[in-house]
Amino acid sequence: VLEARNLAKSFGSNTVLRDIDVEIRRGQVVALIGPSGSGKTTVLRSLNGLEIPDAGTVTFGSGDASSGLAINFGAKVGKKDLAALRDRSAMVFQQFNLFPHMTVLKNVIEGPVQVQKRPKAEAIAEAERLLERVGLADKRDAYPFELSGGQQQRVGIVRALALKPQLLLFDEPTSALDPELVGDVLGVIKELAEEGWTMVIVTHELAFAQHVADEVIFMDGGVVVERGPAAEVLRAPRQERTKLFVKRLQ
Ligand code: ATP
Repeated sequence: VLEARNLAKSFGSNTVLRDIDVEIRRGQVVALIGPSGSGKTTVLRSLNGLEIPDAGTVTFGSGDASSGLAINFGAKVGKKDLAALRDRSAMVFQQFNLFPHMTVLKNVIEGPVQVQKRPKAEAIAEAERLLERVGLADKRDAYPFELSGGQQQRVGIVRALALKPQLLLFDEPTSALDPELVGDVLGVIKELAEEGWTMVIVTHELAFAQHVADEVIFMDGGVVVERGPAAEVLRAPRQERTKLFVKRLQ
């Protein structure tokens, strides 16, 4: 589905990504782990153009060359390409990022109707179906502040699904939640993985990563230190830095 090559990014004199490669096949779940500040969020945001890397390429394939997309961040990226890149994936944020002045339903249909120009009735029907699925059908007219963090994050996930993206990006989706609410949200993500969604998940929940991810990428200091099948990287890491990190979180 996606291939990112040699992504690099600096903020002023702070180099946060160097030569990052990420490959994701259709239906694959990739977990991105690493210490705070290692650049995980920046990688995720680069994959959908919320952050513009200084260099590197992102290629989306589809089996059909005409609808493929290739972006070279080393050159100036056109508005159209950027919009196309953003349309391929949808992000679920750590802090939910729901629109506070909109009801749950409005939050979910905003992107499909305003950005993707889909018919409103169709968007509403789809939103209701998705809300039902995560157990929030009765909250469609509630505002975000009336919901628990776990409910808000489930709305965040539904909002991403409603965009019908090729790729779902999760940025530490449970780290802002009270411990008792984490399970519900992880449960929804696990179901999506089982359904065959293609996803990249930045997470500190290593047990969850091992359970759900096909591949784990360990980053430290803006570089990929180790990558491989989840069980290998998390249970039998080869690199010293990975060993230390995994041990500390167990
Ligand atoms: P965490 O687990 O704490 O979220 P992370 O691995 O996701 O960390 P990033 O959020 O990608 O790390 O941040 C990597 C580095 O980039 C940090 O040093 C951060 O301060 C810096 N950084 C990120 N975004 C910006 C920005 N918009 N402007 C300046 N510096 C930034």
